[in-house]
Amino acid sequence: MSTVHAYAAEKAKAPLGPFDISRRTPGPNDVQIDILYCGVCHSDIHQVRDEWGGAIFPMVPGHEIVGRITAVGDQVKNFKVGELAGVGCFVDSCRECAPCKSGEEQFCQNGMVGTYNGRDKEGQPTYGGYSTQIVVDEKYTLHVSEKLDLKGVAPLLCAGITTYSPLRHWKVGKGSKVAIVGLGGLGHMGVKFAASFGAEVTVLSTSAGKEEDAKKLGAHKFIVTKDPEQMKAAQGSFDFILNTISAQHDYNAYLTLLNVNGTMVVVGVPPEPSLVAAFSLIGGRKSLAGSLIGGIRETQEMLDYCADHNIVSEIEMIDIDKINESYERMMKNDVRYRFVIDIASLKK
Ligand code: NAP
Ligand code: ZN
Ligand code: ZN
Repeated sequence: MSTVHAYAAEKAKAPLGPFDISRRTPGPNDVQIDILYCGVCHSDIHQVRDEWGGAIFPMVPGHEIVGRITAVGDQVKNFKVGELAGVGCFVDSCRECAPCKSGEEQFCQNGMVGTYNGRDKEGQPTYGGYSTQIVVDEKYTLHVSEKLDLKGVAPLLCAGITTYSPLRHWKVGKGSKVAIVGLGGLGHMGVKFAASFGAEVTVLSTSAGKEEDAKKLGAHKFIVTKDPEQMKAAQGSFDFILNTISAQHDYNAYLTLLNVNGTMVVVGVPPEPSLVAAFSLIGGRKSLAGSLIGGIRETQEMLDYCADHNIVSEIEMIDIDKINESYERMMKNDVRYRFVIDIASLKK
């Protein structure tokens, strides 16, 4: 066991502050990682505030983790000390159910073990990447290229895979007319991937001031959703909508923007449910679907794609003592486009 510095919320809605945790001594299949950077996902806020229910406290959030390997167990085959590594949203799963066997561990029928706010197989709470070190089974550890700017790689472990996976699953590419709703951490990665796959990309945003950035990220068009005229003009125009909105909103308003046979995939997880009218779907044979992060194999595929195509997240680096302020700023849609914690600030 080793004692590791971390930042935790002691109870729901409490501000985060310094907290020490124990990490296990690496077992035969484990990789020990010295964490360098950790992204700040809106899911961290939902969970720290216990907006989805069942949260475990004290909570050390963080599931966009990159760092360098400092030790490996004697059975570890694919990782070496000194290499870069990444950890995403889960650190274990049953490994036996059909989704686990097919490489979609995020849908484990016995419940994946979240990187934080979960319980490991011994029933102990898991702690995430707002900490200086983590120990993870090599099967749940990702390879990270030395080619990319590491700070911008951290958000790929959640925001990256959560947008890459549905765009691939629904075969978005050349000829697709795609809308990305919400230009935050997930949304800006969605724009980069959809543009990189050859789609015509429109950003739908409540923040008129993000238009120039959206175009720089690869969007071709920008719609301010608060403007009824712009929304009306866009009706029936998209094949695929990726909805990343974190707060409650009206799904029907976006479903009207789909073309015949179009699909809206929800990845944002507002705490409150939204009512969907049958009429929003039947006229135009529209689909409403959801998607959750991605499996280990696809996460590695996404990281390799990013290394090949020089794709990273646009980040604002923060010291750990700015974390509570960062949450406040994210609640005001004031993030361009992902906060990333410099974990060196936790080692001081
Ligand atoms: P974020 O960086 O805070 O971005 C969310 C964006 O949504 C905001 O920047 C804003 O964009 C838009 N928005 C916020 N409130 C809105 C409202 N009331 N009406 C319309 N638009 C609004 O959050 P994130 O980290 O990208 O996460 C987004 C959501 O995805 C969260 O709910 C998170 O928990 C969830 N998530 C899901 C998965 C999954 O696997 N499905 C994985 C990670 C995260 P504009 O300023 O452009 O309007
Ligand atoms: Zn996340
Ligand atoms: Zn399973």
